[in-house]
Amino acid sequence: MKYLPGYTLEEFRKDLENSGFEPYRADQVFNWLYKRGEEDFGAMTNLPKGLRQLLASRYTASSLSLIESIKAPDSEKFLFRTRDGQTVETVLIKERDHNTLCVSSQIGCAVGCRFCATAIDGLVRNLKTEEIVDQYLKVRKITSEDIRNVVFMGMGEPLANIKNVRKAVEILISRWGLDLSKRRVTISTSGLVSGIRKMAEDPLLREVNLAVSINSPFEEERSRLMPLMREGSLEELMEELKSFPLKPYRKITLEYVLLSGLNDTQDHAKALASLIGTSKKRFKVNLIPYNPVPDLPFARPSIKKILEFQRTLWDRGISTFVRFSKGIQTFGACGQLRASRSYAKISNQ
Ligand code: SAH
Ligand code: SF4
Repeated sequence: MKYLPGYTLEEFRKDLENSGFEPYRADQVFNWLYKRGEEDFGAMTNLPKGLRQLLASRYTASSLSLIESIKAPDSEKFLFRTRDGQTVETVLIKERDHNTLCVSSQIGCAVGCRFCATAIDGLVRNLKTEEIVDQYLKVRKITSEDIRNVVFMGMGEPLANIKNVRKAVEILISRWGLDLSKRRVTISTSGLVSGIRKMAEDPLLREVNLAVSINSPFEEERSRLMPLMREGSLEELMEELKSFPLKPYRKITLEYVLLSGLNDTQDHAKALASLIGTSKKRFKVNLIPYNPVPDLPFARPSIKKILEFQRTLWDRGISTFVRFSKGIQTFGACGQLRASRSYAKISNQ
């Protein structure tokens, strides 16, 4: 079987041409799939019967099946099964005027951040393009929600799977695909310098938002927290970010998970401000109060501590926001549902 959401329009046109059909038929199929959310080839009534039969015998639009979903007033978490029996998490976050989908890019993660539930299993495998795109298609179908924002902040390190992530982004932002605005797609990375360089050189990837998890402004502490982040020093990372091609008024987000008694001191806030230095217009900081993971020895700082940290950055002219991510707050950070063996463990937290 071939997975349709893993194809670009051009590739699918070629495929159909090779089977003796006119290439514009590919545009029609994509229109059904992406604009109307129709996965069943039999229902694509403007296609000739022969093509519908060929599609049904060789292709499928679906690579994920829903295992369970957990609903909260402002968000919903989905656990999907892949064809090879793995599990993938996706979170829909409902904000006042829009919805954001938090997608996974890998099963597990090799970076091994000490505080992260996804790191517990190590890396199982990369997600395929169709498995990334299908997270969007499935959640849209299940919820009937209009989803305009996509963030790669679920399980995995997107830049360690850059080829499949790039193609998924192409499908998300192309007219013939899901037609999202480039400005509404965000790739969050733990800071792979070579990956960020590839993004900078890629006309498609450099147009989407870049968020980078800093988590500590001190080299040694950072490598303790994010142990397999061996690539490049913090200084090299900041250099790379300071030269990243940015359109006017666009900013790179620096993400900072606040861990009580660990990286939440005034010294940390000041050192973070120094890392940014004079490039204040280029960056904004998102402070993410830690969401405790069972069995991991970290806690969320008090509100007072969080606001003091924010204040220190504001006082130095740095746009800083506290992101009590709704999905994260309700369900635990991405990776937690998969990591827990049972539904009950999560709902009792
Ligand atoms: N691997 C990428 C993207 C996925 S993690 C990255 O690290 O950026 C997305 C964000 O969630 C990161 O900033 C990460 O530091 C943060 N995060 C991970 N576990 C968390 C937890 N338990 N509580 C709060 N934030 C967490
Ligand atoms: Fe991987 Fe990101 Fe979790 Fe670190 S925080 S282990 S990079 S998913």
